[in-house]
Amino acid sequence: MKRLQGIAVSPGVAIGEAIVLDNEGFRIPRRFLARNVVQRELTRLHEAIARVTSDIEESRQRVSEQLGDEYASIFSAHVQMLNDPRLREELEEMIRDRHYSPEYAVSRALRRYAKVFQSLKGDYMAERANDVFDIEKRLLHRLLGERREDLAKITSEVLVLARNLTPSETAHMNPRFVRGFATEVGGPGSHTAIVAEGLGIPAVVGVGAFLSDASGGETVIIDGDEGLIILQPDEETLARYRHEVDHQRDLANRLTSLKDLPAETTDGIQVQLLGNIEFPSEAQQCLDRGVNGIGLYRTEFLYLANKGEPTEEEHYQAYRDVAEAMAGFPVVMRTLDLGADKLPALPDPEDERNPFLGLRSIRLALKHVDMFRTQLRAILRASVTKNIRIMFPLISTLIELRRAKMVLADAMEDLEEEGVPFDRDIKVGMMVEVPSAVMMMDHFCDEVDFFSIGTNDLVQYTLAVDRSNKDVASLYTSADPAVIKLIKMSIDSADAHGKPISMCGQMSGNPLYTMLLLGLGLRSLSTTPAAAPELKRLCRSVSIPECEAVAQRVLEMESSRDVKALLREELLKRLPEHID
Ligand code: PEP
Ligand code: MG
Repeated sequence: MKRLQGIAVSPGVAIGEAIVLDNEGFRIPRRFLARNVVQRELTRLHEAIARVTSDIEESRQRVSEQLGDEYASIFSAHVQMLNDPRLREELEEMIRDRHYSPEYAVSRALRRYAKVFQSLKGDYMAERANDVFDIEKRLLHRLLGERREDLAKITSEVLVLARNLTPSETAHMNPRFVRGFATEVGGPGSHTAIVAEGLGIPAVVGVGAFLSDASGGETVIIDGDEGLIILQPDEETLARYRHEVDHQRDLANRLTSLKDLPAETTDGIQVQLLGNIEFPSEAQQCLDRGVNGIGLYRTEFLYLANKGEPTEEEHYQAYRDVAEAMAGFPVVMRTLDLGADKLPALPDPEDERNPFLGLRSIRLALKHVDMFRTQLRAILRASVTKNIRIMFPLISTLIELRRAKMVLADAMEDLEEEGVPFDRDIKVGMMVEVPSAVMMMDHFCDEVDFFSIGTNDLVQYTLAVDRSNKDVASLYTSADPAVIKLIKMSIDSADAHGKPISMCGQMSGNPLYTMLLLGLGLRSLSTTPAAAPELKRLCRSVSIPECEAVAQRVLEMESSRDVKALLREELLKRLPEHID
């Protein structure tokens, strides 16, 4: 048994069969074929070998023309190796007699060859091992198709173990089949982590190198509460975790009974619970969990899921679906927030050595005004349902906000001229996620209808900690007193101007912070739908004066450690079985 510590980013426990995605692509778990498909699978293998052979031949010819035969000979060696009769016989035997899938046979045979080369000393041998890996990769690529698409195509329950996953790769996972994942890299605030929470699957990131200990196909445990992954668990550990899975299922069932009750404190104060979504299909989950609207629709996932830039019609349909599904409830559509770790298919900016400080979010939108206008037109067209609100992300200066509002005004004018209906009184808000925005809140209050605090970025920009870097993850916390002071300033300022303010960063979905946030005066929280029932239960078991007393004590504290200790103690008093 091997226990590995990482960073817990999406709660819950998952137990299941591992599928390993390492730097070389998929490491294929052992799969057996039904007797009647053996012949078909042998044909698939032969076709893959033939296709890869012709791909390599093509490369050989190109290199030979451009650089000469000397360089092209390496490809000849690859062709020879790939068509070696002994290798072919071995693969055929595995498929025909042992009923291995072609993918598993290829992966197993070629990795064994590569290992032999690796065990022999010298650069020449290391190169040969690389050649074998290269052939394996090409063959698997042919057999499996593109890796990303394959993640979407998984149709049996697995846990994904990977070096890294991009937010869009994660977004392509079907949570019915991918029951959890763990990655070697990645930090607590990365969008990959956020998407995992949205999908409601346990996830652990930043584990460090561990993939060489996993082979794929074996049972693993991902403990998203403690940030652990357990390889080769013993019987006792498995039994304990199975019990935990049952317990969580019971708790989730009990919480559904709260669905139709209000999030009201014991002294009768209403708290607005809203949902964060990335895809239109999640609107239903929000309704199932009894939230009062959508506080953050991360529309940029439409770009990430699409191969190219979405058309106005594609935008429109997605927004209309959400607005209609949520009829009678507010839907806050955040305009595209691309860049940094959410990379669209746009030309690379010239110099992005600090992508989180670079051309991301509203800055990128204002640089690609046509793309921005297309999205705004679609949001406006969908707004005839009257429940849509527009929110601009990452606003750092007043000028930036005014420029965004000007593009919006242009889009409105165009629609008006074209006679296309939209909501003329649509509310316009902004995210508060950069310290400069907090400092200028009084001015922003004159220019927007509402605010939402984005703690994921606010923490990163306040503490100068990259939200997706595991090596500085211990500094990345919403419990830092500086962050809490900025949150208080934002709430006080919005309150003083009578402007509604909510919070949609991950902090708002963590019950650890609920009492503090209510005590600081927040009355609206937007979270992943999965987190909402627990928050509702907590709201219903505290009073505002109790929360204010907690906030008062927190505001006097000097370190995140003290803040967390106090909040944990207070939470456990209210929800004794809460697992933090
Ligand atoms: C945030 O920064 O808190 C936020 C909600 O936006 P995102 O996580 O998408 O950057
Ligand atoms: Mg943000």
